[in-house]
Amino acid sequence: MSELNLILLGPPGAGKGTQAGRLTEDFGLPYIGTGDLLREHVEQETELGREAKQHMESGGLVPDDLVIKMILEKIDEEGDDGFLLDGYPRTVPQADALAEELEKRGRRLNAALLVDAPDDVVMERITGRRQCSNGHVYHVTFDPPKHDGVCDQDGKPLNQRSDDKPEKVAKRLQTYHEKTAPLIDYYDERGLLRRFDGTRDKVEVHDHIRATLATLRLEERL
Ligand SMILES: [Zn+2]
Repeated sequence: MSELNLILLGPPGAGKGTQAGRLTEDFGLPYIGTGDLLREHVEQETELGREAKQHMESGGLVPDDLVIKMILEKIDEEGDDGFLLDGYPRTVPQADALAEELEKRGRRLNAALLVDAPDDVVMERITGRRQCSNGHVYHVTFDPPKHDGVCDQDGKPLNQRSDDKPEKVAKRLQTYHEKTAPLIDYYDERGLLRRFDGTRDKVEVHDHIRATLATLRLEERL
């Protein structure tokens, strides 16, 4: 089997997470989520985790070189058949670092999958989310509960997470456009970008990605 080394890009709320779950199942690709990876290292108190924790406790960001070390360790551990990387790179210098490290290993990225959606769609999707304390999630427009503000399953009140409030979402989108959007051009120039319309139905987006990856895999074999 030829390896597929992939990264996922896209704004929050475009459905990246959902697609990642399905793709890892369909293609047996190890999913490497930067957030999960960081949490794991901190919880298990690895050397990298302890270092990362110091930065987080002093209110700073975890430096790039620490994050890429965690990712490479994971790729070396279980990425022989490929990987699906989510949450990294987020900036052009990070993308350069990843390319360089992969090259040292005689590997390269096969594609950057962009699940895209315009800001107004993202805003409506995220700010409409409501959830109960048991984690049941609804959407005021697309998936409303039977009774306003009350969970169908356990009768608990539904609330909006503070991260889902309009001002927070606007800030996340602004950061995304400033830092991450330049990556789209970066991968486009290198012929690696594959775009998917995140405003479409999840199943439709998934089918489109699957077909694209199947083609990529065929091309890799030739
Ligand atoms: Zn509930």
